[in-house]
Formats: sequence, C-alpha cells, structure tokens
Amino acid sequence: MTPKRIVIVGGGTAGWLAAMMLSDVAARKGWGAAVTVVESSRIGTIGVGEGSTAVFRQMLGHFGLSEAEFLRETGATIKYGIRHRDWRRVGHHYDGPIDDPGLVTGGLPLDAYAVAAGRSVGQAHLFQHLMDKGRAPVALRGGRQVAAGPFHHAYHFDQALVGAWLRRKARGIAVIDDEVAGIETGAAGIAALRMVSGARVEGDFFVDASGFKRALILGLGAEWISYADVLPVNRAMPFWVDLKPGQEIPPMTVAWAQKNGWLWQIPTQERFGMGYVYSDAHIGPEAAQAEVEAALGHKIEPRRDIKIDAGRLRAPWIGNCVALGLASSFLEPLEATSIHGTITQLMMLAEWLPLPDGAARYNAAVGAQVDDFRDFIRLHYVTERRDSGFWCDVAGSLPGALQDRLDLWATRLPRPSDFAPFALGLPHLQGQLYTPVLDGLGLLSRAAARAEMADAPLRDRTRAAHAGLVAEYTRAAGQCLPHRAWLDSLREKVS
Ligand SMILES: Cc1cc2nc3c(=O)[nH]c(=O)nc-3n(C[C@H](O)[C@H](O)[C@H](O)COP(=O)(O)OP(=O)(O)OC[C@H]3O[C@@H](n4cnc5c(N)ncnc54)[C@H](O)[C@@H]3O)c2cc1C
Repeated sequence: MTPKRIVIVGGGTAGWLAAMMLSDVAARKGWGAAVTVVESSRIGTIGVGEGSTAVFRQMLGHFGLSEAEFLRETGATIKYGIRHRDWRRVGHHYDGPIDDPGLVTGGLPLDAYAVAAGRSVGQAHLFQHLMDKGRAPVALRGGRQVAAGPFHHAYHFDQALVGAWLRRKARGIAVIDDEVAGIETGAAGIAALRMVSGARVEGDFFVDASGFKRALILGLGAEWISYADVLPVNRAMPFWVDLKPGQEIPPMTVAWAQKNGWLWQIPTQERFGMGYVYSDAHIGPEAAQAEVEAALGHKIEPRRDIKIDAGRLRAPWIGNCVALGLASSFLEPLEATSIHGTITQLMMLAEWLPLPDGAARYNAAVGAQVDDFRDFIRLHYVTERRDSGFWCDVAGSLPGALQDRLDLWATRLPRPSDFAPFALGLPHLQGQLYTPVLDGLGLLSRAAARAEMADAPLRDRTRAAHAGLVAEYTRAAGQCLPHRAWLDSLREKVS
C-alpha cells in the first residue's frame, strides 16, 4: 500500500529534504500522494549544521538543481575534506580528503604503497591538492569551465539559508504553519495530529522531522539508545567569525582539537561558522568560552548553548511514522554525518515505503548506519594526547567492533572487503574515508604495508600509478581557479 496523504512535521533541513524527495518519488512512481509540511514559525530550526558530504551534490544533480544557483543563493562554499588539527598530538595535523582515487586506478593498493614509502595517503587524492592550493573544482580551458576531476565534492553552508532555498525549490507542497500539540493514535499508528490552533491534521504516513523535540515519534513509544558511554562530548557552543574583505576561503572544514573537546571551523561566503563541542563533565560553559578565546586570540559571542545527547532511536520507523534528521539520531558533527544520513535514509524510505517488510529493513539499515558513524567518530579519539583529564578519560575502552578492526588493521591495511556494502548501494563509510584518518593518527603499520608491497611487479605497477596520479593532480589543481574568485564570479554572472 502506498500512502495518499504524507504529512511531514518540521520545516528544517530534514523536513524540506523529505518534502522534496518524497513528493518526487510519489510523482515518479504514480502513488498519487499529496505532501503537506507542518512547521511552526514560533519554533525555530536548529540554526547550525554547515558541512555536507558528497551525497548533497548528488542529490542536487538528481533533482536537476543548478550547483551555480545553489552556491550563489545560499552563500555556500566548496568542501573537499576535513583538516584535523592537534588530534594525534599538539602541533600535528592530518587531512581527510573525501574523494576516492581507487575509482580511477582499478583497485591497485595505493594506500599500502604510500604507507610503505612513508608518504601521506592523501597525496594520491585530487582533493588533497585542491585543499592545499585553495582552488575551485574547475579550470578554464579555451574560455570554458572544465571540471577538475570525476569526483563529487561536498559543501559548507548556512543550514537556515539552505532550508529556505529547498523550500523555494519544492513544488506542489501544502504548508501549514501551526504547532503539533499531540497525536491521535489508531490501528496504523498515527491517525491525526492535534494542533495548538485546535485544528486536526489527518494523514496516512507521517514524517517526524521536528528536531530534538521528537514531537510525534515519542508518542509512539520510541526508545533512545544513548552513545554517551562511547562518545565524550555533550555540549556545543556555536559562534560566528566574519571573513575579512578579500580573505581567501579555505575549501575544507577544520576540526581543531582542544583540551576538552574540539572546535569546528566552516567557511561560508560571508563568515566562518565556528563552534566548540566539549564535555561539560570536564569544563563548564564560561571556562569553555575562555578556552576558545585563548586559542583564537580574540573574544567570541556564543550564539547558543546546545546540549548534545549522542545516540539514535532504536526504531526510527514505528507504524506509519518515520523519524528523520535530529529527531532520529545525532552525533557530534565531526564527519558531517547528519545531513548525509538524512538524504540516504530518505532514499531508503522512498524505496521501501510500499513493502510489507519496509519498516524492518529500514530500521535495521539505519541502526547499522548510525552505529557505524559512531565507531568512525570514536576512532578520531584514538590519539597520543594525554594533556588533560578529557584526553586521559577518552583513552579508555572502545566499542568491540572498532577494537576488532584496529587489531586487524595493525596487521594489514584496510581492504574493500572489510566494509560490507551498504543497503541499495548507497554511499557509506569505506576505506577511502577510514584510511586517511588511520594514517593521520599513526595507526597504520609501515611493516605491514611493506609486506603487502613485497611482490615486485605489483609494487612497480602501484608505484607508477601513484606517481602518475600525484603528477596529474598537482598539475590539475594548479590550473584550477582560486576558490573565492570563482565563487565571486558566480554572483557577478547574474548581477
Ligand atoms: C552543534 C551542531 C552542529 C551540527 N553540524 C552539522 C554539520 O556540520 N553537518 C551536518 O550534516 N549536520 C550538522 N548538524 C546537524 C544538522 O543541523 C541537522 O541534521 C539539520 O539541520 C536538520 O535538522 P532538523 O531539520 O532535523 O531539525 P531542526 O532544524 O531543529 O528543525 C525542526 C523543525 O521542526 C519544527 N517543529 C518542532 N517542534 C514542532 C511542533 N511541535 N510542531 C510543529 N513544528 C515543530 C521546527 O519549527 C523546525 O521547523 C549539526 C547539529 C548541531 C546541533
């Protein structure tokens, strides 16, 4: 059975992504469904959330939305990856470029070659070179803009501007400005929403995208699985720092480890969105602010004080209701997993909504996905730092699956077969994301890499492929336009 009336509660990024994607699939598959968004102008959106993954760009392409228009109208910038500063030890940094050179080299063990040769695995990534040079993903050839490579980049943006842009792009969606006061339940789950205005909103299928309020799913008895015992930070202090006129815009997120957590730095075209995510078991808000001001060398004005309860719902799909976005799960924003998760979860929902076992498939896949995100984020804390109570405390035990993987990867490098394919072939954590982090933290064994390179013909082929990529990507990045100048040119074209 396909629903005829889909009601989405929440007008944040998750709600409007759901409206766009579900109305699109309903039209393409002939469900004949009407989509309504219920949002409350009295309750704001979260107001942070600024780094995406490459899936966001794929989503724009799927809907035929123009990247140039998106960048121009939302003030977004390009993201090639994340620079991790002071994580392994103070004064050390490593980068996590998000492209996958394995796509163009037919599975040669480039990472093993780099580790055996004592070189950073990032050198064979085009995105590492674009990060280092601060370039746009395009070069000018014969007066035309040509893509630097075949890989999808990600974006940095202001969540509120992107939510408003998605709202403008979504077609044929009814909008109700009201606040959900409660739910009426029936055999299928939710029968109707009771609104603060006194109105009733009926539907066949409901999406709870009401953020941390979880306005629908809690009424269906949803259970929260906390990750507090695994992930150490539980509080966020977002603030903004203006870009200086003419200042170059770095095409990367910076995650800068501090004594009691870490600072994010994400550029849009106007400013750096920044924030300190920290453990309030180790430091209070006032001291945290002082710690940030000392690190940056200037005063800051915190915009909010956000409590983070890291975790996920045991079952995000109950009866005829699916929780999405912050209502479904939340992890510290170290690898931009939240909006990525929302988009991929919507793809699964669109596929499985008509199936009798859709909810079971969905709940199993989303649970595994978010648990994997948790383990990947936890890995970042496996460092040499012991210079504060926070870093000594996080040196404790790891989730079993992560410990098993680290034990295995101490004996050999990660292989594609170590990562199970994700549902529907959707992008998920794989070696190209894990390896730069493992390498940066010094968790890959050079002796094991050398053993993998012992076969001389394989070593020669891999060395040649590696040298070819480094030369090609150095040249390609050198030809690309400066990031800020390119973003400015997109604005000038229409003015
Ligand atoms: C500190 C921090 C940093 C983050 N950084 C990143 C990042 O770098 N990358 C990333 O991918 N994600 C990040 N996120 C997560 C990201 O912000 C969210 O995934 C994204 O903004 C989607 O939020 P949402 O739509 O689920 O919720 P919200 O933005 O909170 O929207 C909730 C909506 O529900 C409505 N609502 C609430 N209650 C009711 C009710 N009773 N009746 C009617 N309407 C209601 C509100 O009006 C609002 O429209 C971050 C989050 C935090 C807290």
